[in-house]
Amino acid sequence: MEQIFTCTVCPFGCELHVDLSGAEPIVTGHECARGKKYGIAEATNPVRTVTSTVLIDGISELHPNLKLLPVKVDKPIPKAMMFDGMRIIKTIKVAPPVKAGDIVYKDFLIPGVNLVAGRNI
Ligand code: SF4
Repeated sequence: MEQIFTCTVCPFGCELHVDLSGAEPIVTGHECARGKKYGIAEATNPVRTVTSTVLIDGISELHPNLKLLPVKVDKPIPKAMMFDGMRIIKTIKVAPPVKAGDIVYKDFLIPGVNLVAGRNI
């Protein structure tokens, strides 16, 4: 069975065709090796980098009017886990001060994957 994806690795947006019917995936339509790797990953184990915001619990001295802190995972997680991740994110509150890169939630769904702050507050 062939699956079709648009490669998002670069703005060129090649249409990738991935055939998983054989022993090894066969990718066509790619212009470079990165696209081939992306096509195989999308067809076999798609992952995503979750980005969102969490509530700030308190007043930031740097940004007193800021209510939400941007966060993202430091490693991509399986696409199938995205909704579970968003459910967790909704429950998180952080208290200032926080530095960009600080871990907001350790072992986010998967051991070794952390949710980190996107800015200083
Ligand atoms: S296959 Fe290569 S050239 Fe085409 S969109 Fe993907 S990264 Fe860009």
